[in-house]
Amino acid sequence: MEATLQTTLVLLLQESGDDDAFIAAVNRLVSSEGGEVLIALFRMLAGIDISPHEAPAHWEGLQHHRLLLRQRLGRDLDLVASLCDYLRTATRLLTNPRLIEAGHYQEMLHETINDKLTGLFNRLYFDEAFSQQVALAERYGNDFSILFLDIDDFKEVNDTYGHLTGDRALVAIAEVITRVKRNSDIAARFGGEEFVVLMPHTDNISGFIFAERLRREIEEMSIPFANTSLKLTVSGGLASYPLNTDKPRQLLQLADNAVYLAKGAGKNTIAHYKEEKRRYLRVKISQPVLVRELDFHDTATFSGTSKDICIGGILFENNAPLPLGALITVQVAMNEDSPLLLIGTVVRVESFEDGRYDIGMTTTFKEMDKIANAEIVGILRLQNAT
Ligand code: GH3
Ligand code: MG
Ligand code: MG
Repeated sequence: MEATLQTTLVLLLQESGDDDAFIAAVNRLVSSEGGEVLIALFRMLAGIDISPHEAPAHWEGLQHHRLLLRQRLGRDLDLVASLCDYLRTATRLLTNPRLIEAGHYQEMLHETINDKLTGLFNRLYFDEAFSQQVALAERYGNDFSILFLDIDDFKEVNDTYGHLTGDRALVAIAEVITRVKRNSDIAARFGGEEFVVLMPHTDNISGFIFAERLRREIEEMSIPFANTSLKLTVSGGLASYPLNTDKPRQLLQLADNAVYLAKGAGKNTIAHYKEEKRRYLRVKISQPVLVRELDFHDTATFSGTSKDICIGGILFENNAPLPLGALITVQVAMNEDSPLLLIGTVVRVESFEDGRYDIGMTTTFKEMDKIANAEIVGILRLQNAT
């Protein structure tokens, strides 16, 4: 709550053209959120803790003091300077001022809303901007799109080139996003190697054109490493209001879901959010399944039961979870002689209290090619050995 209030206040400060507008905005916030706002404000501006029952009086006292100072000095005086004087002279709250000067204030502002490594907005700021956009969509029906990006096989980049190079790659990708996006788009680092771009007044088609351009530019970029360079790709999920949902708040989740479709389709691609039931014709089928995770280190097999099957995917019940994005094979005992073998990516995991999991997988044709190749290589190796 405290961190959120502070962010809101920083945003208000940034948005308000002058101190009077800021004071008015704070007063509005106090009437909707209560006295906590003022406590957060004093902590943010002066680094002091004021008790809840004293805060309103000091807030009023500060404004009164500012007007007095203005009259006495015959010129405008900003809020921070007034606060400094108020706390030191009009009250004894602050004996050793720790007030933030303009330069530090800019730094604080930057640190509160930006990601340290990439300089893009951070998650905190993004959540705030997203809420604002949702409110606009709910009130005026403004369309907007969300693009979620996840770097492909980034663990491998870290493992091969080291974390510092991984960090450099994150910075390089952030630079491409900043260069390609419009000024009105808000780009943030959502988490580790995930980015999100909020595009106000942008429908699905324009959003897709942007997303594709971004994907291509990242694919074409080379990141210098020692005497060579490394290449990266990203997978993106796109969701738009009002095309994909009539509840704008859901958009972030839908874009995130679409990333898994892009991963499942072989990565380095942008996927649109798709409502599952429109995409597939489902057939309920309850058959034993054998599930194997395609991982070099772990070849454990799980047994479960299929729930439904469709072109492009299967839903089954399992007694162990599987990681989202994991590549698996699912062998379905359709008939005695030739079980159906599906290869694909885990796109949904739902856990139940009795320790069972519903797992959704979409089949991955590009990945199937890779696995077929690996199998052929394996057979050739065996033949050479004998
Ligand atoms: P996928 O294509 O399925 O997305 O594979 P992936 O390896 O990118 O997927 P996963 O999400 O499992 O791995 C993300 C990795 O990103 C894990 C971690 O090593 C790396 N990572 C996350 N944050 C940072 C960071 O700040 N710096 C660096 N160098 N690496 C990070
Ligand atoms: Mg990730
Ligand atoms: Mg990744």
